[in-house]
Amino acid sequence: MDKGYLELIKDICSWLRFQRSLGVEFVAGSPEISRFLSSADLHDPTNKNISGRYLFAGRSRKGIPGDSVPISSAHTLQGLKSVVERCKRCDLHRSRTNVVFGEGPEDARLLVVGEAPGRQEDQEGRPFVGVSGELLTKMLRAINISRTECFITSVVKCRPPGNRTPDQHEIAKCAPFLFRQIELIKPSFILALGLVAAHTLLKIDSPLKSLRGKWHRLGNARVMITYHPAYLLRFGGIHQKNLKREAWHDLQMLEKEYVASKST
Ligand code: SF4
Repeated sequence: MDKGYLELIKDICSWLRFQRSLGVEFVAGSPEISRFLSSADLHDPTNKNISGRYLFAGRSRKGIPGDSVPISSAHTLQGLKSVVERCKRCDLHRSRTNVVFGEGPEDARLLVVGEAPGRQEDQEGRPFVGVSGELLTKMLRAINISRTECFITSVVKCRPPGNRTPDQHEIAKCAPFLFRQIELIKPSFILALGLVAAHTLLKIDSPLKSLRGKWHRLGNARVMITYHPAYLLRFGGIHQKNLKREAWHDLQMLEKEYVASKST
């Protein structure tokens, strides 16, 4: 992000704080402001100065807990979790049973990122506990990685009704939580499962086929992209066999580097 743009953001934040100190609770919006607020750069994890903070600043509305809390004020995963659990930043909060923040060690070397909670995850408040979760556990076990040594989460923390794919607005609202998780956990490796995770993390919209099977980078983490377990389960026969073979190739690449990095 260029310096002028950063200065502009700082000025707007300071103006919004001033307005808030005067008791102003709402600021008139416009399509331009909406575009600006949903700018991908604003949740760029490499932008330590503004990551998450601005996305929450100046949106104070009474009765909407979690909406006015700066993400950067959460200095631990537990602190961030309590912010996310009160979040009502998008309409998915209306139909959720539980927020699914994610689980695993705070210093996990591998972060696994899915798309969004499904029905069972929503019921239990835990990630990947349904049929897809069983397959994920098997996939990790096949490369000698225990589920308990990874931090497992998703791009969107509340279940989209009917397990639909989260829309762009929901992803834009929720992704700053994922990026803050990455800042706090500092994983060496990220396994992105499916298109939504890949596109959100890498901010590109290439087809999954062209993204999988090679390494990408996000800050200090190396990112491997593969198929979402739910996608692998959607097909049968030879098509599923081919997809699984490709996923196996991706996982073996991950295993090789993950094991090698343990010994350094
Ligand atoms: S999906 Fe994310 S942004 Fe939307 S309400 Fe849930 S936690 Fe908040």
